[in-house]
Amino acid sequence: MTTTMAIRIHGLGGPEMMRWEQLPLPEPGPGEVLVRHEAVGLNFIDTYHRSGLYPVPSLPAVLGMEAAGVVEAAGPPATDGPTFRAGDRVAYGSVLGGYCERRVMPAEQLVRIPDGVAFEAAAAAMLKGMTSWYLCRRTYRVRAGETVLIHAVAGGVGTILCQWCKALGATVIGTAGSAEKGRLARAHGCDHVILYKEEDFVERVGEITGGEGVPVVFDGVGKATFDGSMECLALFGMMITFGNASGPVPPLNLLRLSARGITVARPSLKPYIERREDLEEASSELLGHIQAGRIELTIGQRFPLSDAAAAHRALESRQTQGCTILVP
Ligand code: NDP
Repeated sequence: MTTTMAIRIHGLGGPEMMRWEQLPLPEPGPGEVLVRHEAVGLNFIDTYHRSGLYPVPSLPAVLGMEAAGVVEAAGPPATDGPTFRAGDRVAYGSVLGGYCERRVMPAEQLVRIPDGVAFEAAAAAMLKGMTSWYLCRRTYRVRAGETVLIHAVAGGVGTILCQWCKALGATVIGTAGSAEKGRLARAHGCDHVILYKEEDFVERVGEITGGEGVPVVFDGVGKATFDGSMECLALFGMMITFGNASGPVPPLNLLRLSARGITVARPSLKPYIERREDLEEASSELLGHIQAGRIELTIGQRFPLSDAAAAHRALESRQTQGCTILVP
């Protein structure tokens, strides 16, 4: 029987819950393909699945949502579904079960990696980059000349979203947890870096925008920054809270929105790429930017997939920069 090595959890908890195990691999059925991973992306959501903040459908579960690799075999194609052949270079974001060397998965969740885009770049970009796409192109449409605020701008989503907003002609204010992260953010085009452990980011945004505030805040930090982010908004601004790196945002009293005409959004990637045409639009825009060099993926660190626990510890203790790759 064919097998694969994978990182699985049998219960919820800390990084110590992850086990490196051998699992059986079925033959790909109709509409399925067998993919050999060349690179696996690390995401904060993997830690939420591990801890139980976001539920996994059942236990034991293979963690991981994002990877790139090569099709090894394909089952009979589904009617109307995409067709892949052995040897095709493919990638996906947002399909649970990615922390493994090989997997059988639905072909309709995969996209082709264009020439000139490396496996690591695709594995780092699919989830974090399609998130950046919907944040600045769908939930809020960033326009040239606007000034936007991005928290944790030197992180995985942060470095990609920053470059995307720059490509759209915006001025980017970004927060970062250290001077080194600040330098990385500047190298990705961030115009104004705020070291938010030392500086009051609300005051600094006020100074930079001449007291006006920003039309949109992209906040993946959550609990620690939510209230300050609300204060950074201009009249009729949009607060986009999309993550919980510092903990989940407590329930919100909607009356807080009325005085300044604020909109709050709490989006997630899944619905934005649920339909095949949306997945293709998001991924082709993203991969096109990468291919053209408008968005560069910075792989700040690599860990062996078998030691995904070390990667989780680094991510949760703010030790990582840019994107992180797990090497199968
Ligand atoms: P990052 O690489 O951005 O890592 C998280 C960063 O958050 C840290 O490096 C750190 O940067 C900052 N941070 C601030 N406070 C804390 C804290 N208390 N603990 C840990 N980190 C903290 O991760 P990702 O790019 O994977 O994800 C970024 C955010 O976006 C996450 O909240 C994630 O859940 C969310 N997300 C949401 C999606 C959606 O569709 N809703 C999809 C993808 C990601 P610094 O040191 O500079 O402060």
